[in-house]
Amino acid sequence: MDAETTVLLTHPIGLHARPAVKLAQLVVTFDANAWVRLQDGGEWVKARSTAQVMKLSARHGQQLQVGATGPEADSVVQAVVDLIKRNFDEVDDDPALPTNANALEPTPTSGMLAGTPVSQGIALGITHLIQPDGWHTPCSEGTPVVDYKSEEQRLRSAVTDARDALHTLTHRHTTANDVIGFQISMLDDPDFINPVIACIHSGQSADSAWSEMLSQRINEFEQLTEDYHRQRAMDLRDLDQRLKQRLSGSLGGDPIPAAAVILASELRPSQLLELPAPRAIVTHRGSAHDHTALLARALGIPMLVAVNITQIKEGTSVLVDADRGCIIVDPQEEALESAQARIRSCASARVEETAWRGIQIQTVDGKPIQVTVNVDHLSSLEQLQVNSCDGIGLVRTELLFENDQQLRNESLQVERYQQLLAWAAGRPVTIRTLDIAPDKSVPGLRNATVSALGLRGIRYSLAYPDLFRVQLRALLRAAASGPLEVLLPMVTWPHEVESTRQLMRQLLGALHEEGFAARLPRLGIMLEVPAAALQIEAFSVDFISVGSNDLTQYVLAADRSCAELQYLHTSKAHSSAAAHRSVSLTTPVLALIERAVQWGEKQEIPVSACGEAASVPECLNALLRVGIRSFTVSPNALGPVKKYLATHQIEP
Ligand code: PEP
Ligand code: MG
Repeated sequence: MDAETTVLLTHPIGLHARPAVKLAQLVVTFDANAWVRLQDGGEWVKARSTAQVMKLSARHGQQLQVGATGPEADSVVQAVVDLIKRNFDEVDDDPALPTNANALEPTPTSGMLAGTPVSQGIALGITHLIQPDGWHTPCSEGTPVVDYKSEEQRLRSAVTDARDALHTLTHRHTTANDVIGFQISMLDDPDFINPVIACIHSGQSADSAWSEMLSQRINEFEQLTEDYHRQRAMDLRDLDQRLKQRLSGSLGGDPIPAAAVILASELRPSQLLELPAPRAIVTHRGSAHDHTALLARALGIPMLVAVNITQIKEGTSVLVDADRGCIIVDPQEEALESAQARIRSCASARVEETAWRGIQIQTVDGKPIQVTVNVDHLSSLEQLQVNSCDGIGLVRTELLFENDQQLRNESLQVERYQQLLAWAAGRPVTIRTLDIAPDKSVPGLRNATVSALGLRGIRYSLAYPDLFRVQLRALLRAAASGPLEVLLPMVTWPHEVESTRQLMRQLLGALHEEGFAARLPRLGIMLEVPAAALQIEAFSVDFISVGSNDLTQYVLAADRSCAELQYLHTSKAHSSAAAHRSVSLTTPVLALIERAVQWGEKQEIPVSACGEAASVPECLNALLRVGIRSFTVSPNALGPVKKYLATHQIEP
């Protein structure tokens, strides 16, 4: 080293993320290479690498060695020492919330077209126009079918082909699984397919029988008032188109170039999933709440809707700025340079985010803060490093299994639960019993009385004990192989927990008699029903998990899937940002959470948060304020959540 010194780290949270970022920003301004390490040994790490500096885990009170080589070695070492002595210029602030869609105002430019952002981001690329595929085009009746057997066969092979193709698309993302899973379940449903076959048998062609039945079903869904059902109508139109293409043999079409900016009058969800790595999507029709927009957000593809695309030609260079809600056709040098700078900074933010995932979060006095993940499908664990989280905090079993057959299969369930435990490698795995709900039905399960205020969650399980027994037996068996915990959804009264506990004890005895290894797991409840929150003292449980999605819907008496009611999810007047990002925590909801946390502290019962709010940095401050110190987040929120927590001082 050309210069070297030692300095005491006085910053209360040590050399955590935000200080590490400041250190990096400082040293790159000198003509020197700067390094740091802990005084008691260890390797030197580059001071300009935030990830490496964070890995040192340098804490308050430790001595840090700072060294440098190069012409400005002395100056950089002195500057780093000064920064550390100034506690990295940190003040006890509460940084502004991240920018929402529409927050940036576009500066008017020639060639600019306005649009509504439904998935944020910025991209540059060459346009490719996808021609409309003529939804609703009625199939011609044609001449009556004589050979109905071969016509039926034609329909069946189209269904099998469509199903296989859809199945492949589900692997793209867990959200794809949710959206496309519905289409697959329709194709698997005899009640859906058999009426088409009956029409073929009465002399209709496969095309016309399919078309007739689909338009009837689409109409039925469109008549329903809930937003959720209207989305399903769009999924059916998507399915309709896919099957018609297969029946007419008009598959393929022109290949779509990779990394293009896709222009379309409207894009179906499955069409989006088939695009080869699009840079951005611009459509004329569509909304922030439809499934195509949902998938674009899940896949991180910038998307604008309500754009007059007729003015844009195929093969044109465009800048899609979904942060500002506009696109610029043939952008000039100045716009290009600033866009490229923003694209570069987004890319480095992604690298930084990966680094955040690996860090351990703690309070100012060193108590660990738990950050676990939600798991809806085993595939979501493929891309996730187990050491980036403290375990699995919520497994939604209604999504983990595809149909009622799987839910009646005890050994299959044991196998899946054991797979989760194996992945978690000794960390806790919290598995929630079935939560059949209006937006999460399982094909094959009776759901006539399922509604938000009806027979859902634990109410459903207790009403169908045969099904519940299979799940509980599987959970008890899997609990013998690792730290499995059982979580009960939609609990209202303590007797629901007691009935479950009693059933578990009986089943445990039976399992032991049958010679199975089994164990009683820790038993907890979801805090989703206001009545449970208001009498939390009456419950005897091992842990509590706050389901803020449902708690919010029940406290506000506002259906969580109703787009028109998103404005009630904030006390502020309706805004376009609120329409896009629906997650927020209101004072009445927070009051109930705080009540449970305070009781949990007295009784030493852990209370964590697992609703979507826990995955949204904007809501974390509110959860911290009411005393939540354990968070269960969606895997793709791990980086942002840990970054938020690591850069804020968390009181014990
Ligand atoms: C919740 O209600 O917050 C929750 C996590 O459960 P779900 O979203 O599965 O209803
Ligand atoms: Mg819930």
